[in-house]
Amino acid sequence: MIRVYEKRFDGRKFDELRPVKMKVDVVPSADGSAVVEIGNTKVIASVFGPKPLHPKHLQNPEKGILRCYYDMMSFSVPERKRPGPTRRSIEISMVMKNALASTLLLEEFPKAVVDVFVEVYEANAGTRCASITAASLALADAGVPMRDLVSAVAVGKVGGMIVLDLTKEEEDHPEGATDIPIAMVGRSGKITALQLDGAITKEELKKALELGKKGCSILYEMQRKALKAKYGVR
Ligand code: ADP
Repeated sequence: MIRVYEKRFDGRKFDELRPVKMKVDVVPSADGSAVVEIGNTKVIASVFGPKPLHPKHLQNPEKGILRCYYDMMSFSVPERKRPGPTRRSIEISMVMKNALASTLLLEEFPKAVVDVFVEVYEANAGTRCASITAASLALADAGVPMRDLVSAVAVGKVGGMIVLDLTKEEEDHPEGATDIPIAMVGRSGKITALQLDGAITKEELKKALELGKKGCSILYEMQRKALKAKYGVR
């Protein structure tokens, strides 16, 4: 018998985000940086560039190139993660790039590259979403020309309920869970990334998307606040 998920493990409402903290300008040597914490998922993003791309044959004379690197630190998960890239980190790096590239005015810096490095120093589900949110914030902090910020959050189905911002415990729910990371452009509400791991009906997906958009809007406002805080603007 499938038991309905009546109360969330951490006591949150089904449409509630975990506690969020954001701060920009945290890495002195980077051109832009941001830290994003959402519950026990914590990431730091550093941006370097735009700068001339070498070797030159990789340059695009029409527009700049965005490169993203996602990495999980060995101590970010309960059981030590072997350092270095994995298939998963390569996939998430690609998802990040695809989620962010359309918001950047890449044509304004031909032949150049912007590098974004995201380090996960504590992982408790939703690291790809926190990474996209932090990367977009760090790109803005670096002054990279952009149309708008991107924020991201996971929604899903846990024990028959549609929930916002899954924890690892929820992802591992004994009744099974459906995990749907979503990235959204702030003002337009356009979705730039959407993945789906698990099963869900069309109606449930619609509901989940609405919830995801709500979560992304809250994160977007927090991103704006974090940028303004750097300049002492409210
Ligand atoms: P996301 O972090 O975007 O939700 P996944 O669904 O692949 O991406 O991972 C879910 C969670 O599983 C991670 O946030 C982390 O808590 C955990 N996890 C991922 N990789 C590992 C690993 N190598 N060792 C232990 N836990 C991991």
